[in-house]
Amino acid sequence: MNARQADLGRATAAAQAAQPFDLERIRADFPILQQQVHGKPLVYLDNAASSQMPQPVIDRLVRYQTAQHANIHRAVHMLSELATTEYEAARCKLQGFLNAAEAREVIFTSGTTDAINLVMHGHGRKFIRAGDEIILTTMEHHANIVPWQMLAEETGATIRVVPMTHAGELCLDAYGALFNARTRFVGVTQVSNALGSINPVKAMIATAHAHGVPVLVDGAQAVPHMPVDVQDLDCDFYVFSGHKLCGPTGIGVLYGKAALLEAMQPFKGGGDMILSVSFEGTVYNTIPHKFEAGTPPIAAAIGLGAAVDYLGAIGLPAIARHEHALLQQATAQLGALPGVRLVGTARHKAAVLSFVLDGVHPHDVGTLLDQDGIAVRTGHHCAQPVMTRLKLPATVRASFAFYNSPAEVDALVAGVRAVQKVFA
Ligand code: PLP
Repeated sequence: MNARQADLGRATAAAQAAQPFDLERIRADFPILQQQVHGKPLVYLDNAASSQMPQPVIDRLVRYQTAQHANIHRAVHMLSELATTEYEAARCKLQGFLNAAEAREVIFTSGTTDAINLVMHGHGRKFIRAGDEIILTTMEHHANIVPWQMLAEETGATIRVVPMTHAGELCLDAYGALFNARTRFVGVTQVSNALGSINPVKAMIATAHAHGVPVLVDGAQAVPHMPVDVQDLDCDFYVFSGHKLCGPTGIGVLYGKAALLEAMQPFKGGGDMILSVSFEGTVYNTIPHKFEAGTPPIAAAIGLGAAVDYLGAIGLPAIARHEHALLQQATAQLGALPGVRLVGTARHKAAVLSFVLDGVHPHDVGTLLDQDGIAVRTGHHCAQPVMTRLKLPATVRASFAFYNSPAEVDALVAGVRAVQKVFA
């Protein structure tokens, strides 16, 4: 970022800070929120699974499909050049969103899971050997566990796990003690999808780097809720999904430091990821194209660019403030109900509230809340090691977005009380 861009960034941040957070105007941008479910106004509290899409992002997708679509990078005709320009412009928007040093450090993937698998295949299979160790944490989503288990099985590497407290905080002393001469990689989620805990990833990255070990941060639950600066974090890889960020499904991002990406082997082979092909040998393309074989999700990438524009106009700091207030309200009101146990009480949390009710299975809670139009998630949230650690089969999870209102938190609390009455 040059000095002028930095000035503009500060001016935009100052303007956003001065703007009131206009919840009604924001909610009006989300057509899906205007509907009724089972005859009740929809209260959508499943944002950690997937967030909703505002009209400007929908409009952007429609504009692309109706006036700009062609395959990219491959033709000289006008539409192809336009689509290519828009696709690469989306990459630059994502670069700005993450404050990556260069646009070529942003790889479009189909989502977080795809991005982690890319790093496992591209980096892990090249650099991790029998006897090497990979550090993960108890609170990883399965997407940041299973690919590394597959690698460990294939190579004979070992996975070491950072424990967590009952409140849902990582044990940092134990983390530091896991490093040794065989440690090759760290994978850590910035925000737990099951508990909402915000992990101190910047400090954890510094610890890993002191041992010369690269770190992948799973930002799937972080980017929708807080500003992220990959250069400030100094992470080696950062991954997230578009559909949790008001963007389309089928698109996600792998950020990687250029030198690491260049050293990686490609994961998928095919068109666009090559400079030349012959039966004698193939020369791979430069990054980012080396990792984007075949026709990418062009519309989805452009849609994701529109989504980060939309979020940027509201401002991630304002979003974080609003969601924090919702979380505090929900924590206080639900926590005060007899028979409700909050699960995950870390000191630093993002907008996720997991809980269980005495004597009621979480699936029954979810089913009855749905009858009131309230969408929550129930189950293990693809984080079974968290449930095992807490000796729970499942929880109810309400997860908030910036378009949720205090009245919706009240509706959730009233819904939970109604469920308790059914089972009293
Ligand atoms: N990591 C975390 C922390 C998540 O919450 C999720 C989805 O819930 C994923 C990874 C997987 O994301 P996706 O299914 O979009 O690949």
